[in-house]
Amino acid sequence: MMTLYKKASRFAARHLAGRWIDLRKQQGVVSFSFDDVPASACHAGAEILERYQARGSFYVCGKLTDGTEQGQTCHSVKDLQKLVADGHEIGCHTYSHMNCANHPLSALRQDWQRNQAFFEEHHLPNRGFAYPFGAYDLPSKIAASERFLYNRITGGGTHIGKADLSALRAQALYADKTDADTVLQLIQQTANEGGWLIFYSHEVRSEPGPWGTTPEQLEMALQIATQSSCRILTVEKAIAFFQS
Ligand SMILES: [Zn+2]
Repeated sequence: MMTLYKKASRFAARHLAGRWIDLRKQQGVVSFSFDDVPASACHAGAEILERYQARGSFYVCGKLTDGTEQGQTCHSVKDLQKLVADGHEIGCHTYSHMNCANHPLSALRQDWQRNQAFFEEHHLPNRGFAYPFGAYDLPSKIAASERFLYNRITGGGTHIGKADLSALRAQALYADKTDADTVLQLIQQTANEGGWLIFYSHEVRSEPGPWGTTPEQLEMALQIATQSSCRILTVEKAIAFFQS
């Protein structure tokens, strides 16, 4: 059972220190994002997005570069540079996939710094941030806001009317858990109400693990988004659109 302290702490993190933007453009936006960045997201994922003239946002842990995660090959530096050259957005996760709600700020700042140094060494942009596990608390929300243009969490659903740049909610696109009706309803609601829906996933392959999507599921979401009145934009470009 969640303790009272934890409940209060979660409430505070969700409701305090927000950086709210209005979503009043009479047009919805759908964004597609990928965490940890397995090689399949850079290759199959980017290729499918580009087929729909769409671009995605990819949140990188420098420690996973040229490595493997749960038996899967991760991105290389070259993969990341190609994504940037092709118009996708690269953003930060933590360097070591550190859980931001479980570590002191000093350790977290060191880890962020290490990741940003990795990005800078390879001339990669690093303005956006996604919390590993979607986990954050009030101190890490404030600290991340000082460092990054925006911070993406998980949590599910879409944004209607306003969005908190310090805790942008995202909807899982997982082959095993996200059914087609959910995808359709969320995109329709986003289109009808001029909202902002951010999907997140990990790998893109025909037999993904529990946190990945298939090429078919990604394509289905892109087809629905394309047929709706929504724009498909990276997270960073969506912010610029809503703020313009
Ligand atoms: Zn992650």
